[in-house]
Amino acid sequence: MNYLVVGAGITGIAASIELISLGVDPTKITLIEAQDRCGGKIRSKMIAGISIDVGPDSFLTRSQAGIDLAKKLNILDQVVRPSTFSATIFAKGRLHDVPSGIMLGVPVDIRAFLGSASMLSLKGRLRAGLDFVLPKTKIGDDATISHLIRARFGHEVDELLVDPMVGGINAGSTKYLGLASVAPAFLKSYNSQSGRSLAKSLIKIAPPKPSADGTKSEIPFASFGGGLETLVQGGVAHLLKEGATIMTSTQAIALASDGIKFHVRTKSTAIATENDSEIAQELSADALILALPAPQATTLLGGVSQAVAELIGRIDYSQVGIVLLAYKKGSFKAPLKGSGVLVPKINNRLITAITFASRKWSHLDNSGLEILKVSIGRHRDTRFESMSDEDLTRAVSQEVGEVLGATVAPIESVVFRWKDALAQYRPFHSQLVASAREELSKVGAIEICGAAYDGVGLPSCIESGQKAAQRLHATVGANDL
Ligand SMILES: Cc1cc2nc3c(=O)[nH]c(=O)nc-3n(C[C@H](O)[C@H](O)[C@H](O)COP(=O)(O)OP(=O)(O)OC[C@H]3O[C@@H](n4cnc5c(N)ncnc54)[C@H](O)[C@@H]3O)c2cc1C
Repeated sequence: MNYLVVGAGITGIAASIELISLGVDPTKITLIEAQDRCGGKIRSKMIAGISIDVGPDSFLTRSQAGIDLAKKLNILDQVVRPSTFSATIFAKGRLHDVPSGIMLGVPVDIRAFLGSASMLSLKGRLRAGLDFVLPKTKIGDDATISHLIRARFGHEVDELLVDPMVGGINAGSTKYLGLASVAPAFLKSYNSQSGRSLAKSLIKIAPPKPSADGTKSEIPFASFGGGLETLVQGGVAHLLKEGATIMTSTQAIALASDGIKFHVRTKSTAIATENDSEIAQELSADALILALPAPQATTLLGGVSQAVAELIGRIDYSQVGIVLLAYKKGSFKAPLKGSGVLVPKINNRLITAITFASRKWSHLDNSGLEILKVSIGRHRDTRFESMSDEDLTRAVSQEVGEVLGATVAPIESVVFRWKDALAQYRPFHSQLVASAREELSKVGAIEICGAAYDGVGLPSCIESGQKAAQRLHATVGANDL
């Protein structure tokens, strides 16, 4: 029984490792990857001699999946925690501290919130307080995040807090993102109680307030001293040591099934030619896992089920760019505070967030430089795509200067562009994925997994890959003995 896993991002790597844990003979597992490197969105770039993650820079540790994988790969001793977790918000031309009494931007302790939400107008604060008196909002099984937040607290809370915090994680907009998939705790708590107030329903599930000194162990995020690529390198080393095959620079370009086996047509991306047939190779497998972003999965799925391809093809993406900027320390009028700044959409700027990478991670703070990781682009804002690297760096440096009060230009910059960066989970996303999986089960031993389906965060991707491996093994495992 041969297993083929397509896509060596963290999902495909986790799926392959899980197959081995389930008892599959590692020599029967092949992982193929279009790029010349594994890791997908986990990737770093050098600036001023320092390696910085240009994709994810940390993973949530409230779910155990990331930590458990690190343990399995014997890299737990390399786990590091951010030095600081607090951010500021740029609104009305200045920086504001994130208010107290919120959970993901949503007020839960209204009194603490109203006393500290300096970015809201007086009218906006009064409107937020109406959550206690307005009649219960009818949501049903799902709705956009904006729908609930605006009904309870008004548009300012949505635009200045929830959209930058929740929408920002997905490079999306609360006007499109669905509650059930992106903020399930909000929907569940609100629908499970009869009271009208969203704040009162959420205070019951809000995590405990961090202590005044904000010790590192309370920060629910982690990375590795060598950056997140440590996780990828650990996964790849484990797979190779066990005897699995990894083929990089191998892009799957077509998929077919003869009812018994899957046939994946691949081409080498290491060789430049206009005639694909010259370099095409066919790989056959009894069981197949597609750990790909939705657009690439859709292309392949069309070969085995138009119905699944049509469903998966509906999943929309945001495009994101990262501009790394290195400044000499002391280049800013005021000291940089916390781990970074969120820049809400209503500012109409290119930049959506600035991470103070060399402050957030103490192991990066050793060069007399401030390294800033600036995010640009969000769902339906692709202005940066048509700009040259030079123009983009100039525009981004100027905006950073305005937000942080930089007195001089950066001494070095790096631009990186992500295509199909983050899937946008609309309302009823999980129903769409369930329908696609049900249809796909008619095709045979094939699974789809990854950031397009079960959550964009790294722990969700790891679990998505592991569960796909478990389902596949349960389907074909009996024949594999
Ligand atoms: C800028 C940015 C910041 C982020 N920050 C965070 C964060 O801080 N914390 C967090 O938890 N998450 C974060 N995320 C989300 C997280 O990084 C991703 O959701 C996750 O890494 C996706 O993993 P994946 O394996 O599902 O997909 P991918 O990483 O996209 O991997 C898919 C792989 O498939 C390969 N592939 C595509 N087509 C083919 C083909 N036809 N044949 C063969 N191979 C193919 C690709 O080259 C790629 O390697 C961030 C994402 C971005 C873009």
